[in-house]
Amino acid sequence: MATKEPLECPVCREPPGADRQLEDHLVDEHEKRKLAKFIVAETAALTTDDVSE
Ligand SMILES: [Zn+2]
Repeated sequence: MATKEPLECPVCREPPGADRQLEDHLVDEHEKRKLAKFIVAETAALTTDDVSE
């Protein structure tokens, strides 16, 4: 049985939908500012090497 891994948006944790690209979801659902904040947070998490989870 080939179950496709459900793709989830890294920003809101919502799946973009069956026939929807994650990229389109990001553009339609999230403001540029929100995306930028998410990327900044991710980058900071990577650079500080802080393992909190
Ligand atoms: Zn999203």
